[in-house]
Amino acid sequence: MSIATNFVTEAKSVQARRAVQEMPEYHPPLAGRDALRLDFNENTFAPSPRVMEKLLAQTAERLTKYPEREPVERIVAAHFGLRPEEVLLTNGVDEAIHLMCVTFLEEKDEALIATPSFFMYDVSIKMMTPHLVKVQSDATLGFPFERFMAAITERTKLIMVASPNNPTGATVSRQHLLAIAAAAPQAVVMVDEAYYHFDGESVMGDLAAVPNLIVARTFSKAYGLANLRIGMLAGSAELLKYVRKVSSPYNVNGVALDCLPAAIEDETCLAWYVEQVRVGRERMMGGLAELGVPYFPSHANFVLMNIGSKHKELVQAMRTHGVLLRDRSTDPGCDGFVRITIGVEEHVTRGLAALKVCLDEIGWKSQREEPAHDPIEDGAREFE
Ligand code: PMP
Repeated sequence: MSIATNFVTEAKSVQARRAVQEMPEYHPPLAGRDALRLDFNENTFAPSPRVMEKLLAQTAERLTKYPEREPVERIVAAHFGLRPEEVLLTNGVDEAIHLMCVTFLEEKDEALIATPSFFMYDVSIKMMTPHLVKVQSDATLGFPFERFMAAITERTKLIMVASPNNPTGATVSRQHLLAIAAAAPQAVVMVDEAYYHFDGESVMGDLAAVPNLIVARTFSKAYGLANLRIGMLAGSAELLKYVRKVSSPYNVNGVALDCLPAAIEDETCLAWYVEQVRVGRERMMGGLAELGVPYFPSHANFVLMNIGSKHKELVQAMRTHGVLLRDRSTDPGCDGFVRITIGVEEHVTRGLAALKVCLDEIGWKSQREEPAHDPIEDGAREFE
């Protein structure tokens, strides 16, 4: 037997850390998305044409260079009225979440989130500590503020709250977010504003006054750069100094860094897309009301609807008609719920038309005609 064979045999006994073995896995259904993508809350159209110009201007020589994050952090900081040390660019908010957990959580610490919410919180927190405390929303799927406050303990070290929240589209008021930060001075509170543009309320302006507050923003949604993987953390230099230490210096690629200033300076394009979504969201909610489908009033670029027991059939039928939806029925408290992304006018029109056809095709009946299954009790507020 050769030495090389021995190496292979011995390598089989290596185990990952216990936390890694036990943490949940996130496998978004990303294969075969050659259809109208109303499943991942992406921009359904395009980023600013200025971004495309930057992309086309890339040269072979530029690709050979390591990316330089700092000059772009200075531009982004100026855009948000912050100092450069108060901004960290990340490989999407996904990486920001991961960095926050690795930076702040010891194995003994508690991390606090509300559910249902973005699943990456679970994944990254569980990588670091088993003490993940989840506060479940009631049937309205609104943020469970009182119970959330009551769940804060002296061991709470990290709190993550999405506003607007995914998959519900509900917001948490600025007053409530500030009350949470004040009630947990020993913890870092990360407010995930991935869907901020579609709502408009932010705690970014509170960063200077609230030292334990950090805001996460993505450029994947309203800016349409999901494929470039770019997001940011904003907060006190004191806290971000540690997160920066944990981050790789090359976490954001140079192509994304070249494009970002062009994306943020094109405010007309951003405003146009946001308006498309706001108008489209009203149309979608109106359309769902007409179809008798209960839904949760949304402040984001998606709407969560209550389809009931035929949720899988609907998603499948829509796929056959060339429209992708996201089945959220395994999220806590979301049995039977399906999420649809709101994009530009034409995509909303196609989504709504396909919904009409598919609900009919699967023999779905308005829950108004099925008194045994009360949509209000199930949590969806109807026709708001
Ligand atoms: N936060 C929330 C609440 C999200 O829904 C998402 C995307 N699904 C993200 C963060 C991740 O965004 P990014 O593309 O910047 O990693």
